Amino acid sequence: MGGWAEPVTPLGIEPCQYVTVLGVTFGPTIEETIRESWTKVTNAVRAQARTAYARNLFLAHRVQYAKTYVLAKIWYLAQVLPPPTRHIQKLKSTCKWFIWKGAIFRVPITALQRPEELGGWALPDIALKCRALLLGRMRTLAARKDSATAAILRKWNITETEENPPHISKIPSKLVHVLQYALDMAYVAPQRTNETMNKQRSRIYGTLRDVQSNTEKSDVMRVVRKYRDVNWKYLWTNLHTAWISDVQRSTWYIVIHGLIPTNDRLAAIKLTETNRRSTCDAIDTTQHRLTQCGESKLIWNSRNY
Ligand SMILES: [Zn+2]
Repeated sequence: MGGWAEPVTPLGIEPCQYVTVLGVTFGPTIEETIRESWTKVTNAVRAQARTAYARNLFLAHRVQYAKTYVLAKIWYLAQVLPPPTRHIQKLKSTCKWFIWKGAIFRVPITALQRPEELGGWALPDIALKCRALLLGRMRTLAARKDSATAAILRKWNITETEENPPHISKIPSKLVHVLQYALDMAYVAPQRTNETMNKQRSRIYGTLRDVQSNTEKSDVMRVVRKYRDVNWKYLWTNLHTAWISDVQRSTWYIVIHGLIPTNDRLAAIKLTETNRRSTCDAIDTTQHRLTQCGESKLIWNSRNY
């Protein structure tokens, strides 16, 4: 004979490990809170990217879609909890997968992250933008003297007025957000008078980007290395300001970066048997496709210059 099941706790409420409030999933420890919250959001980002993957979009649209819909999911959480490196990697590879859609030739994601006038497409650097958002948010909270954040920063002796980076070795490693704040704060000047939150965020992002590019060896893009005499800044600016459609802009970006999978290039890496074009049997180069083949020949010939 079985009796009544005994309640697990005196009040009969089962203990719950995780609870989600305003997009943050709180667990028993800070580490678990960070892990659970970021797992949820990373999965949501992947689902969003999968939904739109098959759509017939061009590079310009894909980058825009990644910025507006795919990555938008993470910026809110990034203001509260720093993403673990593993999640940054996953988010980056989701972006790459979505943007390039299996293209054989691509520019590296670091090139897409450059400003438009420097040959990129202003794709956000996920890790840096997350750090900028957290720093901005913590500064706002630190300015309110009665906030919990202000109390924590006082406890670890982290103040904006400090000239040198604080002694972060004293901060326990589980307070990742405090550590990150202390490290980054030293590089970025405090909020200026009348500076809006958005302005401050993009200034922080810009500064962190500068710091990073100064410490890493600067990577010159392949096409720039190849044609050093070109006025690249002028060319990229033209590309992004010209009155052409996004489809044309995307195509030209790919042409300029030399990413068209012509048979000439594919044959060189043994991906096709012939370097000739099946339609006209000429050697298949980008130049041929643009100026000598099919319709393009007619277009070039019909222009009255
Ligand atoms: Zn041809």
